[in-house]
Amino acid sequence: MSYHALQDIQPLRFNGVRDGSPIIIAGPCSAETERQTLDTAHALSAMGVKVFRAGIWKPRTMPGGFEGVGDKGLAWLQAVKRETGMAVATEVATVEHVRAALDAGIDILWMGARTSANPFAMQDIADALQGHDDVTVLVKNPVNPDLDLWLGALLRIMGAGITRLGAVHRGFSSAGAHIYRNDPQWHIPFDLRRMAPHMTILCDPSHIGGKRQYVEQLSQIALDTGFDGLMIESHCEPDKALSDSAQQVTPAVLQGILQRLVVRSGVPVEDELSLLRQQIDDCDHELLAVLTRRMSVAREIGRFKKENNLRVVQPQRYQDMIDARLDEASHLGLNQDFTQRVMQAIHEESVRQQLSLFEKKD
Ligand code: PEP
Ligand code: MN
Repeated sequence: MSYHALQDIQPLRFNGVRDGSPIIIAGPCSAETERQTLDTAHALSAMGVKVFRAGIWKPRTMPGGFEGVGDKGLAWLQAVKRETGMAVATEVATVEHVRAALDAGIDILWMGARTSANPFAMQDIADALQGHDDVTVLVKNPVNPDLDLWLGALLRIMGAGITRLGAVHRGFSSAGAHIYRNDPQWHIPFDLRRMAPHMTILCDPSHIGGKRQYVEQLSQIALDTGFDGLMIESHCEPDKALSDSAQQVTPAVLQGILQRLVVRSGVPVEDELSLLRQQIDDCDHELLAVLTRRMSVAREIGRFKKENNLRVVQPQRYQDMIDARLDEASHLGLNQDFTQRVMQAIHEESVRQQLSLFEKKD
């Protein structure tokens, strides 16, 4: 199965969700009790949510945490389906989960970020899905920012004959402290969009943000950048939730968020927009020209270092350069974190180019 197959994946449709309006999947991080599951589901259904999510097998980073209620939660999801008419979704990570969820008639199976990062697990799951082409499968991005790993996971599921297939962007693990729990690295789902232009790609602002206060702004970014919908964690009593408590919102809060979200047209308004885009294109041409010049100077420096037997990386010079750029950026009103990341990326490429000169045999 090659990358090209991704172009054939068609958009998902759910009963009751109008074409063109965002697909909203909501529900608790975990099903904890039958009451909590049904109370949350009824509240969400009453506000028009058509697809319910709840984890029953929970992958936890640390041992000893709440690892889900297991198989008995399947009956609660069946009750949600029966009582509300919503489609129901849960996470599967092993062949046993897949079999149990399929036997219970769960409509949507999703693979979490820790599972999609593991090709063996994805292949086992794909094999277990063979012949079940009526089920819908959503593949979350792998924990690490690797588009190929995500594509590979999707292709394995396609290889099992699943055609009702979509992806969920939930951000990427990264070292150090950040505002968000999982770094969105938006360029990765945007690249996925180019590879699979018609596939349903949802955004999970709950796991990206990690705190309920970020859910709304991340959701708006997602809708403004062409995601087809949102998967949002909602719990009837978030502060008592056994997992991901800080990022869950009540159904009432979610209703407010959904009402405030602006759904904008994907069709560009010509004239004004095309003039502005022309300016962006011009800026990008200039940026590329400047980068090319900078790399050529870097190679010149590399040749000098080689001739004089100097190390490629001079830590003090690097620190001075970054400090000076950040200072300049703050005067220009540019975001510090952004400037630092750009300068680091440019510096890394300069180093790579210089090292390649050192590798060359004369
Ligand atoms: C979840 O959806 O509750 C979950 C565990 O998500 P992720 O795989 O994105 O961490
Ligand atoms: Mn969660």
